[in-house]
Amino acid sequence: MRELTHFIGGKHVPGTSGRFADGYQPMTGEVISRIPLASKAEVRAAVENAKAAWPAWAATNPQRRARVLTRFVDLVARDNEELAELLAREHGKTIADAKGDIQRGIEVVEFACGIPHLLKGEFTDGAGPGIDIYSMRQPLGVVAGITPFNFPAMIPMWKFAPAIACGNAFILKPSERDPGVPLRLAELLIEAGLPAGILNVVNGDKQAVDAILEDPDIKAVGFVGSTPIAEYIYTRGCAAGKRVQCFGGAKNHMIIMPDADMNQAVDALIGAGYGSAGERCMAVSVAVPVGKGTAEELMNRLVPRVESLKIGPSTDSSADFGPLVTREALDRVRNYVEIGIKEGATLSVDGRDFKMQGYEDGFYMGGCLFDNVTKDMRIYKEEIFGPVLSVVRAEGYGEALSLANDHEYGNGVAIFTRDGDAARDFASKVEVGMVGVNVPIPVPLAYYTFGGWKRSGFGDLNQHGPDAVRFYTKTKTVTSRWPSGIKDGASFTMPLMH
Ligand code: NAD
Repeated sequence: MRELTHFIGGKHVPGTSGRFADGYQPMTGEVISRIPLASKAEVRAAVENAKAAWPAWAATNPQRRARVLTRFVDLVARDNEELAELLAREHGKTIADAKGDIQRGIEVVEFACGIPHLLKGEFTDGAGPGIDIYSMRQPLGVVAGITPFNFPAMIPMWKFAPAIACGNAFILKPSERDPGVPLRLAELLIEAGLPAGILNVVNGDKQAVDAILEDPDIKAVGFVGSTPIAEYIYTRGCAAGKRVQCFGGAKNHMIIMPDADMNQAVDALIGAGYGSAGERCMAVSVAVPVGKGTAEELMNRLVPRVESLKIGPSTDSSADFGPLVTREALDRVRNYVEIGIKEGATLSVDGRDFKMQGYEDGFYMGGCLFDNVTKDMRIYKEEIFGPVLSVVRAEGYGEALSLANDHEYGNGVAIFTRDGDAARDFASKVEVGMVGVNVPIPVPLAYYTFGGWKRSGFGDLNQHGPDAVRFYTKTKTVTSRWPSGIKDGASFTMPLMH
């Protein structure tokens, strides 16, 4: 069994708190690692290292900072197979899906490689006699990211790449379920030429998070995870005077209009509902067929597709999805299926008893499909985060739109239709941050921003894209006058630029 470490000041540092978490291999159910859970003192050691390294990094010109990230992109490509295998081993997703996780992270690193352009300020020549005004973006100092288990490569990269490109030093607190890849990424950054102390990885749980929130030298915190923790971190971080952005849970609806291409809609639901065992914040968990005929046709086609989903160990390249992340997650999802039955929903496909031959202790479950789910049910209101799709039948377009708008989460949504008017109306009126038109998982590319509305996102700025540069920098505006010899005497009125 491997004992993992923290990564502080460019080196692996063993845990000293005496507290550890077990790291599982979900496909077999075995414990494969011991993960140290940092104390406040260990978080402080990381902050001290970051603080000491930060001034020189902030003074390094943006091209040089970008070059480190360019080399990092090459190193991740070189080690792609190894990283994907490690990710799949700790998380449970298939290796092909793990490669997607890495790739969507790398796209944000590539975006951050454009930092010399992204950091350019504004300039007004001749705003008054001899007066120019310009603005500049400066790094904040030491900043932190707290990330979830479900994208152990992508989300850490979404956080640290823009932050360090902007000239900050970073403390990453990855999920204690699968910290192996974040630790490898930190090693690769050192190999790429990042100075020691600019990216530190502190493993841990609530104690480490609280230490981050309390540390006066940490200027900003970015979080991704479940909504209750997002709200907690947002509230505490803001009260401590930090800049905070927190992205939370989701219940993503897919509306299927009567004119939709049904083959396309069913393929989309199968992939977006069950891919990665439903453990994606952009997974579709609610299908809303509009009209009785649409619902009947959808169910007739969905049932055999869900029944024939191929579940397998992460190493099986023909598997549609792998196990859930932990036994606790498996029990939670199974429990939701029980709740749905008790609430009166129709369980059209029951995957609860699926057993993976040869991997009996792994955390597997088959796909489940509920029909006749209603708004008042817990399985509709709460995030299940597993391979369970709920069908909520709507009579008309207006009802389908209201379902998405009235839900407390507002991360992603999709509409499947051939009607341009309906699609345009939907995109304009829906109260959700990321919208797909005939696209089931509308995760924006790196140069747009990613973020949900309502209780899926707390804070004003989104992740990646231009918002990431705004989040990780502060703006300074300079008004300068040359030649300095102009004499206009003291003025006691509000300065005007005539
Ligand atoms: P989680 O909230 O349990 O954990 C996220 C992070 O918070 C981890 O680093 C964890 O160590 C820490 N944490 C856990 N409990 C804590 C506590 N009591 N106090 C302080 N910190 C604590 O989430 P998860 O199970 O790792 O990830 C799944 C969740 O993340 C889902 O709800 C999913 O929708 C959400 N998610 C959201 C997005 C998004 O962009 N909106 C993206 C990915 C995942």
